[in-house]
Amino acid sequence: MAAAKLQVPRGTFDVLPPDGERRRALDAAAAEILGRAGYAAVETPVFEDTALFARGVGESTDIVQKEMFTFEDKGGRSLTLRPEATAGVCRAYVEHGMHKLAQPVKLWCSGPFFRHEAPQAGRYRQFAQIDAEALGSDDPALDAELILLLAELLEGHGVAARLRLSSLGDAETRRGYGDELRAFLREQESRLSVEVRGRLEQNPLRAFDSDHPGTRAVMAGAPRLIDRLEPEDAAHFADVRALLDEAGCEYEVDSGLVRGLDYYTRTVFEFESPALGAQSGVGGGGRYDGLVETLGGPPTPGVGWAAGVERILLAGGATAAGAAPSLAYVAVAKPERARQAFAIARTLRRAGVRTELEQAGRSMKGQMKHADRLGADWVVIVGDELELKDMAGGDQRVVGERDLVEAVSR
Ligand code: ATP
Ligand code: MG
Repeated sequence: MAAAKLQVPRGTFDVLPPDGERRRALDAAAAEILGRAGYAAVETPVFEDTALFARGVGESTDIVQKEMFTFEDKGGRSLTLRPEATAGVCRAYVEHGMHKLAQPVKLWCSGPFFRHEAPQAGRYRQFAQIDAEALGSDDPALDAELILLLAELLEGHGVAARLRLSSLGDAETRRGYGDELRAFLREQESRLSVEVRGRLEQNPLRAFDSDHPGTRAVMAGAPRLIDRLEPEDAAHFADVRALLDEAGCEYEVDSGLVRGLDYYTRTVFEFESPALGAQSGVGGGGRYDGLVETLGGPPTPGVGWAAGVERILLAGGATAAGAAPSLAYVAVAKPERARQAFAIARTLRRAGVRTELEQAGRSMKGQMKHADRLGADWVVIVGDELELKDMAGGDQRVVGERDLVEAVSR
């Protein structure tokens, strides 16, 4: 009886060639762009104490209420597969006393994240994010810098994204505004969706996120947080905008922009690509001046973003790959020459030459065909003599083993 076939778990996927290379190239581009701006690479665990996300992401968020992969380990501890990066990075900042370093501390990371969502194109249960954070300064230049760095990364990958930008003010402004909005929504409660009504107490701002027609009609006339900012927060937002304007970065101020996390203060932003349909968000973030303190650290401002790797690659389509470096193919003319061929391939590779080796017992004719299929520029034929064939010109000549590296490096 044949064994039953196994499949990847729902909402996950295998990365196959050539996508593996595209994902690595995106990661390399992020390392390059962020590294140039002083962001250093960090890694935090893929699972953390559940309490970190409950506190750090916020009890009223979709993520904490519905989307976390939470489990108990053998010691009875509640752990959660990380649904986002900021909470873990902030925990690490506190745990390692990074507030004692020169500020701001600029960090970036990338890797897998987990959310229990209904899978569809661009929405998975395991997905990858690139994440950048700047901790320890409330300089609006950090908000603008981070937005521009993400714009650069997206642009470099052919993602034409619309930037929505807003400011949420500080926690107190948000609270006061929340009360005002709640009172406004209560007056028209019957027109609101059940979900929005259910969230009215905890987080009335989420009503801006609703697709429900009745709710949307009500929200069109709702008071706007952006009109309620304290002078300092309004000035901070004006500074962020001025820096983006000077950089020629286009954006749209959208007071209805609600980010899915509770911890944001002041600047919030989101890049959206029309190429993605319903899952339009490619990346977003904002300022979280209260988060580190919430996690038990000293009062520490911070700002950051996360961008979805799968959505960037979906929205960017096939970006032109750079010309691949030339390829040598080491053919084995006689079985007894296989070891020599193996050594030659190793020598070429160590000298920096991209090299394929015959490893499937093909005939000489089969090997030449295979070399052609691989797009080899050179074939090194290892027989009683060593011969080098130039695949473009067709020229074939005897060559000394010592001259080989130089010959194929041309
Ligand atoms: P959405 O509104 O689509 O649910 P979100 O606001 O929950 O997105 P963020 O928490 O801001 O997303 O995460 C940053 C980025 O991570 C998103 O812009 C998106 O590109 C990506 N992302 C989020 N959730 C998923 C997922 N389930 N699958 C794939 N990518 C995701
Ligand atoms: Mg989401």
